[in-house]
Order: sequence, then structure tokens, then C-alpha cells
Amino acid sequence: MLHFDYIEPTTLEEAASALSAREVAGKIIAGGTDVVLQIKEEKLAVDLLVSLASIPGLRSIHHDEKWVTIGAMTTIRELETSGFIRQSAPILFDAADEFGSAQTRNVATLGGNICNASPAADSLPALLALKADVTYWNSGEMKRQDLHQFFTGAGKTILDRADILASIRFAKPHPRSAGAYLKFSSRNGMDLPLVSIGVQLQMDQYFSGCEDVTIALGAAAPTPMRATGAEKILKGERITEEILAYAADQASQEARPRDDFRASAGYRKAMIKNLLPVAINRALSRIRQNTGKEI
Ligand SMILES: Cc1cc2nc3c(=O)[nH]c(=O)nc-3n(C[C@H](O)[C@H](O)[C@H](O)COP(=O)(O)OP(=O)(O)OC[C@H]3O[C@@H](n4cnc5c(N)ncnc54)[C@H](O)[C@@H]3O)c2cc1C
Repeated sequence: MLHFDYIEPTTLEEAASALSAREVAGKIIAGGTDVVLQIKEEKLAVDLLVSLASIPGLRSIHHDEKWVTIGAMTTIRELETSGFIRQSAPILFDAADEFGSAQTRNVATLGGNICNASPAADSLPALLALKADVTYWNSGEMKRQDLHQFFTGAGKTILDRADILASIRFAKPHPRSAGAYLKFSSRNGMDLPLVSIGVQLQMDQYFSGCEDVTIALGAAAPTPMRATGAEKILKGERITEEILAYAADQASQEARPRDDFRASAGYRKAMIKNLLPVAINRALSRIRQNTGKEI
């Protein structure tokens, strides 16, 4: 029988102070879809679970002229059903839509997906492609960090044990831009991907070439990663089949996936090569649809 205490503090200070008490092995619980499984499978030993559910202000999708800010306790289902996210950041809608089952999406939070730091987590390539940053509570103050510097290894982040992720923020995507997230998995997308890709593409003012692009890969390395070499190939260029094939080859070379019982590294690399042109073409078709421009 497993024994642990459970508390629901109402402020970040209270939560952090409970987590930093020396005599307990404390752990944050958000939706619990990862943490409860880890406890049940005895991969995680805790004697205190600190729920964030009663701390106000952590569950919202807010946008102003410049920024989109999402509270860490926002559920994947709330992202999936937000008309604003679907319209302005369809790459994040794709990631939410592809995520597990409806039951899982109803309770799993964006903050939990980030802090669990699985290299295969669905939201991460989308957020990396959006150049997101995160705000977290550390030693009595809020700190900000670019998401691409947040992960230090598989399942590891820069957070100390009493730090609490509060929100995720990205710049409102440009009207000439759109993104797409694709997940390749063995069981109809109901589990973590064998490999995944997120792209965010911005066309130049003439809609003839790529002004900016970010390409992020999931399950392709110990941490979610950007394929910056492939990005360089596309930036400033017309998007043709040839250049897409060249960039896809580069992205697959940049990936450092591992062999495991689900797929070999070689297979994952081959899938990245196949998925990149599809993701870019999906982003292009969204830009076409939103702007009515011929591209
Ligand atoms: C059946 C099933 C299907 C799944 N399918 C998918 C899938 O398709 N795609 C996918 O990406 N994932 C999937 N997952 C994994 C899981 O659902 C996600 O990672 C989920 O987003 C975790 O969120 P949570 O709120 O449940 O986190 P929790 O389990 O509550 O927490 C996860 C980790 O993050 C920490 N944490 C949570 N919130 C914070 C915070 N604000 N600050 C600091 N630390 C925090 C916790 O201490 C814990 O270490 C699946 C899980 C299950 C059980």
C-alpha cells in the first residue's frame, strides 16, 4: 500500500514552501496523468503531493496585441477547443488534437506535459516552433526562460524541486504565417509518437519566398530539438519540391533518435525525412487559406 499526503495550497508561495521542506519528498501534481502512473509503477517515491488546482490564475488562455499566454494548468482539451488557438496557432491545435484520448486530454495539462519533459511529448515541438518561453516561480520571484533552454535531458528540466511553472508565452503569429504539427505513431495517435515534427512558416511580403521558418522535432533526441540546419536551407528561398527534399534530408541528419523496442533510429530518421515536406505543405496551405494569396 502506498502512503502519501496530499495538499491543495492556494498560493505559489505556499506550494513552494511545502515542496522545499527538507523532511518530505514532495512532488507537484497537475492533472496527474504522468505522476500517478509513475507512483503506481513505483518509478517515483513521494510522501507529499502538492496539487496546483486551487491556485488562482494558472488556468487561462490570454492574448493581447503582441503575446499569447497560456496558464500552466490549462488542459489539453481547453487548447483543443479554443477557437483563438485554432485560428492563430493551428500548430498548437494540431498537437492538442493529436494528443491521447479524450479522457486524457480532459485532465492532462500543458504545464504537466512540459515539466514531465518527455522528448516525445506532443506539445513540445509545437511550442518550440512557436519560439515559446516559460515563466516559473523560483525562490520567491517569477523567472523567464526560453523553452529551448528549459530541457536538460530526457525527463529533466532546469526546475529545482520547489520551482513551479506558471505560464507559457509566445508571440502572436504573424498574419503571413502558419504552422502544422504532425505525429507519427503506431496506434492511431493514441500514444506518444515514434517521431513528430512541428513547423512554423512565415512567407515574405510578396508571398514568393520563406521569410522565416522554425522546425522542431519530437522523439528525435534526448530532448525536443530544433533542426536549425534545415531551417537555414529554407530561409529566404522559394519553397519548391527540390528544396523541401534537401531540407528534409538535413533535418533527418540533425536528428539523434535512439533505437528502442518501438522503432529503430534509422526508421525514425526516415520518417522525419518523409514528414517535413508534408508539414511545410500543410502550413503553406493554411497560409493560402487565411490570406487568399497564391503561393
Ligand atoms: C493513457 C495516456 C495517454 C497519453 N497520451 C499522451 C499523448 O498522446 N501525448 C503526450 O504528449 N502525452 C501523453 N500522455 C502523457 C501525459 O498525459 C502528458 O504528459 C500530460 O500533459 C501530463 O500533464 P499532467 O497535468 O497530467 O501532469 P502531471 O502528471 O500532474 O505532472 C507531470 C510532471 O510535471 C510536474 N508538473 C506538473 N505541473 C507542473 C508545474 N506547473 N510546475 C512544475 N512541475 C509541474 C509534475 O511534478 C510531474 O513531474 C499520456 C498519458 C497517459 C496516461
